[in-house]
Amino acid sequence: MSNTIPYKIYLSENELPKAWYNLRADMKNKPAPLLNPGTLQPLTADELAPIFCEELIKQELDDTTRFIPIPQEIRDFYKMYRPSPLIRAYCLEEKLQTPAKIYYKFEGNNTSGSHKLNSAIAQAYYAKKQGLKGVTTETGAGQWGTALSMACAYLGLDCKVYMVKVSYEQKPFRREVMRTYGASVTPSPSMETNVGRKILAENPGTTGSLGCAISEAVEAAASLEGYRYVLGSVLNQVLLHQSVIGEETKAALDKYGVKPDMIIGCAGGGSNLGGLIGPFMREKLLGEADYDIVAVEPASCPSFTRGVFAYDFCDTGKVCPLAKMYTLGSGFIPAPNHAGGLRYHGMSPVLSQLYHDGYMRAVAVPQTEVFEAAEMFARVEGILPAPESSHAIKVAIDEAMRCKETGEEKTIVFGLTGTGYFDMVAYEKFHDGKMDDYIPTEEDLAKFRKTLPEM
Ligand SMILES: *Cc1c(COP(=O)(O)O)cnc(C)c1O
Repeated sequence: MSNTIPYKIYLSENELPKAWYNLRADMKNKPAPLLNPGTLQPLTADELAPIFCEELIKQELDDTTRFIPIPQEIRDFYKMYRPSPLIRAYCLEEKLQTPAKIYYKFEGNNTSGSHKLNSAIAQAYYAKKQGLKGVTTETGAGQWGTALSMACAYLGLDCKVYMVKVSYEQKPFRREVMRTYGASVTPSPSMETNVGRKILAENPGTTGSLGCAISEAVEAAASLEGYRYVLGSVLNQVLLHQSVIGEETKAALDKYGVKPDMIIGCAGGGSNLGGLIGPFMREKLLGEADYDIVAVEPASCPSFTRGVFAYDFCDTGKVCPLAKMYTLGSGFIPAPNHAGGLRYHGMSPVLSQLYHDGYMRAVAVPQTEVFEAAEMFARVEGILPAPESSHAIKVAIDEAMRCKETGEEKTIVFGLTGTGYFDMVAYEKFHDGKMDDYIPTEEDLAKFRKTLPEM
């Protein structure tokens, strides 16, 4: 059987999903609603309207519609780089001498280099349809900002990006790609916003954080006429858009009658993993099939494995709604030597609820082991993986090695979310032996936990 499976399983353009899948519709315990940070009451569509686009608010609050049709204009854009290939990792299997069968869904095949474009085009499309002038956002490592810049350029929308200062300085190439697509890029915290000025006054040397850049982007959207704020992960709507990853993966596997035992994905805010597991989790929720679903996070930013499941702010400046999620506290700032991405303090409320209810598990891995896995993968499979994606590679390799010991022929699917061309400073640190595996102590985490709201 295995000989009949090609190295790359491509779907045709006609097989591109026609609808996004809304995982929430099949969850018995729905994710908890976003709360107004002032009143602690669930946010209404009206309250969200000054910040988010109308249609995206509908999607954010919709816990019941299973399938939401993908507008034709978005499908046309998807056709430029989708369906993405599902690759059988024959070379990695050979290298590991494992009886496991390994597949990965490769989302790095577009200029932005990651899965983020799947949601960027959807969010930009709805902003355009509402007649807005532009959108504001934050970006950490730069992938989301790049994806959004591409989507905005395609649709003729203005794009203002607040980029975490450390990345702005370390990743000048990402910044210039965004500017090539017409976005304006500001290092965060900046002196442009009230919240930026406040954070700088309290902590003048700060190199910034995602939570802080979010606060600035939200403030900018609320104060500019014709602008709304968009976010590249965590939110329910983003998981919805990313469901194209899972729908395609399932369709490709079904073509060859392959049933995975295990599905692995890296988790920063949870969007790629939430998208990848969609149709598999659906079967699991409906009791039709069982899969071992694994989220992989960095040991230096361990939201699932060492965080608490509680309402928390989504941003440092506490201007955003409260979300119930696994979180380290909105004041969390990762160690400066952390180079592997996935540094957000919280986690998707959908995945948080599924994890809490025992439908998936999580593991945390130290960054040097992640880069070792990345390098092995690059050498045998040819693709230069993003550090974020390499968290999933690391655990896929660990699981394949376990199969080698036990002789189990498990089928493992993992998400290869993107490429690492812009992450060479991180690879350089690894090659020069300057990367360490700092893991926060209980005391560190207790300090950040104090930034959780009392309620
Ligand atoms: C942003 C990003 C991630 C993490 O984000 P999720 O929302 O958790 O998917 C992972 N891989 C790449 C390449 C990214 O750009």
